[in-house]
Amino acid sequence: MSIELQSTATLHTGHKMPLLGLGTWQLTHDTPGAIQNAIHLGYRMIDTSGDYGTQPGIGKGLRRADIDRSTLYVVTKVEETDNAYTAARKNLAELGLEYADLMLIHRPPKDNVGEDLWQGLMRVQREGLTRDIGVSNYSVGDIEELVAATGEVPVVNQIEWSPFGWSREMLDFCQLNTIHIQAYSPLTRGKQLHNATLAEIAKRHSKTPAQILIRWNLQLGTIPIIKAAQPKHQAENLDVFDFELSDNDMDALGSLNEHYSALGNRLAYM
Ligand code: NAP
Repeated sequence: MSIELQSTATLHTGHKMPLLGLGTWQLTHDTPGAIQNAIHLGYRMIDTSGDYGTQPGIGKGLRRADIDRSTLYVVTKVEETDNAYTAARKNLAELGLEYADLMLIHRPPKDNVGEDLWQGLMRVQREGLTRDIGVSNYSVGDIEELVAATGEVPVVNQIEWSPFGWSREMLDFCQLNTIHIQAYSPLTRGKQLHNATLAEIAKRHSKTPAQILIRWNLQLGTIPIIKAAQPKHQAENLDVFDFELSDNDMDALGSLNEHYSALGNRLAYM
């Protein structure tokens, strides 16, 4: 398959989204410098959230990078206890941006699937404060219920996703409904990089385990959001467009699935 750093995915609204992005959870040491370096290397999508504490630094880094806003893709999130409209405006003020490209409900609230939050985000979108709206950590059932209640299909479900923890049911459901999966913790926060199958495939392709995990996502059609503060990691994670995993490699990686979560006991959407 022929993809490159500049390739994009087309959302059901017709808008385009880059094929990978930079995560910023805990990117709190010199956030502006890390963002500036990432933009310089070629990252165009940045993922953040109202609760990461990185938005002001991201804003500063983007201004320093002096890049055309229309070429950037900024994702942020509102919390399940927020008033979505107020939180969205606060996020934009912290980022110093007039609009986001994508705003997500960070996770479904405890007792419902977030219809009120979703209506709030629909207003944010109508007012031009975000191009698109989506969800995060939603199960298939949660999305079905949200869509049945509001008639509005999210463009993205951002969920934990790696060969060690993923879901065929979710992949099929999202493909059928043109919902893009953004894969968070795609490197398992470094916890599975020494897996023997992964190491063997990496060695055969003269790539690192991290690059194999990123490439697995790209070939599956899922969009990895990779956190890297270190410049060498940032560069390494972009160097994934000059090789291809075979069908056998993809199957071997996919069969490592044990619904593993690097964050806790179980995947939030299972
Ligand atoms: P991750 O991207 O799987 O792993 C990040 C860790 O891997 C960092 O310690 C990083 O080190 C290291 N790393 C990066 N590149 C590497 C490489 N080439 N080789 C070896 N190690 C490497 O974990 P994550 O931060 O949990 O997930 C990514 C992003 O997804 C987050 O930052 C956030 O934006 C988003 N996220 C969303 C949710 C949600 O609920 N929606 C939940 C979790 C995460 P350095 O930083 O030192 O370079």
